[in-house]
Amino acid sequence: MTNNTADGQTTTSRAKPDIWNYRGPVIFSPLCSWPPKPLSALRAIGTRWVTLSRNTLFLLFAVLVYSYLLPDMNSMKTLSLDWILPVFLRNLFLLIVVAGGLHLYLFTFRGQGDKLKFDPKAQMETGHRYSFNNQLYDNIFWSLASGVTLWTAYEVMYFWGVANGVIPTLGFSDHPFLFAIWLLATPLVLSGHFYVVHRILHWPPLYKSVHSLHHRNTHIGPWSGMSMHPVEHIFYLSSVLIHFVIPSHPVIALVHMYTRALAPAFSHAGFEKVLVDDKKLIEAADFHHQLHHRFFECNYGNVDIPWDRWFGSYHDGSDEATLQMRQRRKRV
Ligand SMILES: [Zn+2]
Ligand SMILES: [Zn+2]
Repeated sequence: MTNNTADGQTTTSRAKPDIWNYRGPVIFSPLCSWPPKPLSALRAIGTRWVTLSRNTLFLLFAVLVYSYLLPDMNSMKTLSLDWILPVFLRNLFLLIVVAGGLHLYLFTFRGQGDKLKFDPKAQMETGHRYSFNNQLYDNIFWSLASGVTLWTAYEVMYFWGVANGVIPTLGFSDHPFLFAIWLLATPLVLSGHFYVVHRILHWPPLYKSVHSLHHRNTHIGPWSGMSMHPVEHIFYLSSVLIHFVIPSHPVIALVHMYTRALAPAFSHAGFEKVLVDDKKLIEAADFHHQLHHRFFECNYGNVDIPWDRWFGSYHDGSDEATLQMRQRRKRV
């Protein structure tokens, strides 16, 4: 039996076959460590906002879109396909580039082989449980047809409200400090919203009728992230409504939307990091959510805030945690 370790080395053991090709550590952000770890927290913030990360990537996308690709404010005062269609096509393009790019590199061209891949399966699956009997087509269909449409609907509502002065905004030059606070707080707001919404989606009637579509994917890839039922997209993307009531900058609202709509391509990539020539290019999936797709009733949140540890649904990837989770399930 061979296993890849964190640094990509191969070890040999006589243990029973592992269900994982690679077990990543589940590490919560030090932002909420107790007792506090201020230096580690500062380092984590620096890694997130100063190095190449999905956060800096989405901030760049948001600044570029806001500066060069935003329809004219006057035209956005009325709902018209003249500007809504370009917004839809731009969002379609962004998701295809991010999820499609990751899929091509990691699964089609196998750019890093199996290195840091959690699940031993090499390719997406086929079978009756998927639309079109094909996991990849299924995932692309739900991501684009439902995901991009509902993401665009929220974006259109937001900019229609901004253009008409119904939604309050803050200028960057007048409020640079608030802009920075918003930027730093956005991942935490998203983490809390995701935990609450995700727990609601695991309420059995909603799980069966809605969330099970996302959970068709036990072996996940970049396109699985936004592969959701339309009702789940409405719930999941509703965190952006915070910008409808609390004044922020449109760039912050766009960063928020990209974090919702594009980050799942990374978090479901199936590989812990994207490697180029064995060197980390960017962080990708976390083992925490991979475990949720494998075991369902654990790890409902993400690693930005340790909700699962606080509420007793934490799985650290060990066999002992699997046993404990099964015993908990039996008791329930
Ligand atoms: Zn998921
Ligand atoms: Zn779930």
